[in-house]
Amino acid sequence: MNVHEYQGKEILAQFGVGIQRGVVATTPDEAVAAAKQLTEETGTDWHVIKAQVHAGGRGKGGGVKLAKSLEEVAQISDDIIGMQLVTPQTTAEGKKVHQVLVAEDVYYPGDSEPKEFYISVLLNRATGRNMIMYSTEGGMDIETVAEQTPELIFTEEIDPTVGIIPFQARKVAFNLGLSGTAFKGMTKFVTALYKAYVGADAALFEINPVLKTSDDKIIAVDAKVTLDENALFRHPDFEAMRDIREENPTDVAAREVGLNYVALDGNVGCMVNGAGLAMATMDLIKQAGGDPANFLDVGGTADAARVEAAFRIILQDTKVKAILINIFGGIVRCDRVAQGIVDAYKNMGDAINVPIIVRLQGTNADIAKELIDASGLEVQSAILFQEAADKVQAVLQ
Ligand code: GDP
Ligand code: MN
Repeated sequence: MNVHEYQGKEILAQFGVGIQRGVVATTPDEAVAAAKQLTEETGTDWHVIKAQVHAGGRGKGGGVKLAKSLEEVAQISDDIIGMQLVTPQTTAEGKKVHQVLVAEDVYYPGDSEPKEFYISVLLNRATGRNMIMYSTEGGMDIETVAEQTPELIFTEEIDPTVGIIPFQARKVAFNLGLSGTAFKGMTKFVTALYKAYVGADAALFEINPVLKTSDDKIIAVDAKVTLDENALFRHPDFEAMRDIREENPTDVAAREVGLNYVALDGNVGCMVNGAGLAMATMDLIKQAGGDPANFLDVGGTADAARVEAAFRIILQDTKVKAILINIFGGIVRCDRVAQGIVDAYKNMGDAINVPIIVRLQGTNADIAKELIDASGLEVQSAILFQEAADKVQAVLQ
């Protein structure tokens, strides 16, 4: 799950990572109030107004602007809130901005060369260890740095049983060319950042830029934070940070009804109970020459409402040309599932405009087949797994 910059910074601050202070605002009035509050706390009366959307490259798209007075805070916030922000990381259509982060200006006036670094924490899947990736080339697109000057990107792997050790934090500060107060500040920053990554059960932290201010403070100016969905149950306060306006509507709909759904590129929609059977079904579709459009595990309670929800989610994908329903009736009875399919099909009428192949096996499978065959619906039923996959291929020809 991705969170906004302002939420990512809240998480960092909870773990003692230095951040550029800011307050989120949804209207220009709130932005002005936020700016006044920040001026009281920090003493600076310049502020940056930053669009809060789940996409980077906002600066390039005009979503990050400096305000040198309260009038400018109001004006810039008014311009940014409600705008359709297009950045190198959004589609051409862009993302609608619902809120801005009003932050203290940390590139102090007269600061001739603030130093920007890049630091991220992520899992190295090849070694199965977390690593800190960092570079002197902050503020830039890291992919560009990787392409043009790969020697300027460093990595530091962390032993999971030991955690980050002081030597490693010092090595990061050293490779970033720091000394004195800034060196000490960076070792503290990196150590806290790594502990935050582990403590928050994060999947990615990308801080670009990390800033060394002219008075040698080390702070996170930006924060891209991705949390591990599977660990959210341990962090109810993070779950509350979810902003569904930023998420794919199909994924949101699936989560709301408790379906495990992952969109893929093919054209055969799959509705299956159990993750293992879902994987096997996708394999079989592939083997028969097709391509699954999704992974969908309807779970143990495939009643009419759930089957209907699953149909609707699968059909939101316009690439889908056939649907294969493969249910094993172990705990759930096949006739109940069949009734669910028939009801959903009748309820949805013309909304279901692709052929459906159903394979129901297990408890009451014979009654289920009768129910489907007698329903008069254009649903083909299959008994054998292979038969189902072949029927799918046949309707696609
Ligand atoms: P991104 O473009 O989405 O990655 O957003 P960032 O938060 O990284 O901001 C983009 C750029 O805005 C940064 O690289 C900085 O150069 C600039 N910026 C951010 N905060 C401040 C600030 O407090 N003062 C000034 N003058 N510029 C800032
Ligand atoms: Mn950035």
